Amino acid sequence: MQNSSDLLETISNVGTWRRQLRNAIRDPRILGEHLGLPPEMIDSACEAVKAGFPFLVPWAFANRMQIGDINDPLLRQIWPTLDELGEASKPDFTDDPVGDESAIVVDGLLHKYHGRVLLVTTGACAIHCRYCFRQNFAYSDVPHDLEAWRPAIEYIRTDQSINEVILSGGDPLTIVDRTLAALVSQLGSIAHVRRLRIHTRLPVVLPARVDDQLLQWLGESVLAKYIVIHANHIAELDADVVSAIARLQSAGCVVLNQAVLLQNINDTPAAQRDLCQRLIDVGVLPYYLHQLDRVAGAERFEASVSDGQTIVDYLQTVLPGYAVPKYVREVAGQRSKTPIY
Ligand SMILES: *Cc1c(COP(=O)(O)O)cnc(C)c1O
Repeated sequence: MQNSSDLLETISNVGTWRRQLRNAIRDPRILGEHLGLPPEMIDSACEAVKAGFPFLVPWAFANRMQIGDINDPLLRQIWPTLDELGEASKPDFTDDPVGDESAIVVDGLLHKYHGRVLLVTTGACAIHCRYCFRQNFAYSDVPHDLEAWRPAIEYIRTDQSINEVILSGGDPLTIVDRTLAALVSQLGSIAHVRRLRIHTRLPVVLPARVDDQLLQWLGESVLAKYIVIHANHIAELDADVVSAIARLQSAGCVVLNQAVLLQNINDTPAAQRDLCQRLIDVGVLPYYLHQLDRVAGAERFEASVSDGQTIVDYLQTVLPGYAVPKYVREVAGQRSKTPIY
């Protein structure tokens, strides 16, 4: 035991997912000192979170970062910088880049595309990615429990064209199992709803979340289950994550991955190839590669579409067809994600 951050890390690695979430890092200084980052870099990160999007990283994720590497691809995703504050440095970077607000049909429910609705179950997440496109979503208006979800459930019940319900957020798996089990059982009782999809980064950033309680209600649901995880880089997929994925699969879930193309993080042909290879090796299909949503503060993450196309061209030549993700962007007002390949 060398210092206090080692001690913190050890304490927070034991126990349940809720304890791990409680013990997540909320101060850039703690992570910065643990990783040995330059003091200027730590100071400006602290400054950036004072007024802006709070800092949040679980140790389970932070422990996969390389000590001393300021360019670590996991660190870059969550490290705040001062250019997040103030005016957007590029045009078209806004608070609601994908038109979420206008797709709300009842509190917390987005109905944008035919056959599927997306329930924003919570604003909470286990990690704050600095490029998050919902970082400015009006989460205070979002219902958080079964009683408050009733209008959304009624909407789903009355629209027979809806056959898939997507739980999103925030991260739906930050909600406790009792509540999720009750919600999913209600959805399962609606005859025209056949599929449940969960968009979650927790199996990657907090793999302890995939515990027996979660697997129990998932396994019991009559719905076909799709879990869409979110890994952007092969270094995110450590042994604990791989075993969390295997547990989801053994409970009957199809596991897919979506990634975001991120400048200086995963915007090279080799980085995408390695990620996709690793995913299919553990039975996860690469689903989407998203062009970054232009959310204010995320300008530094934007890679060019032509770089993205070059990468996908390369992936086609080295991977089986099923391992090549669809390269898409979300255009507000469109009937689906828009392919850009
Ligand atoms: C992305 C998205 C979906 C899901 O789209 P798929 O192409 O089926 O993955 C559904 N609803 C909303 C509001 C979305 O943003």
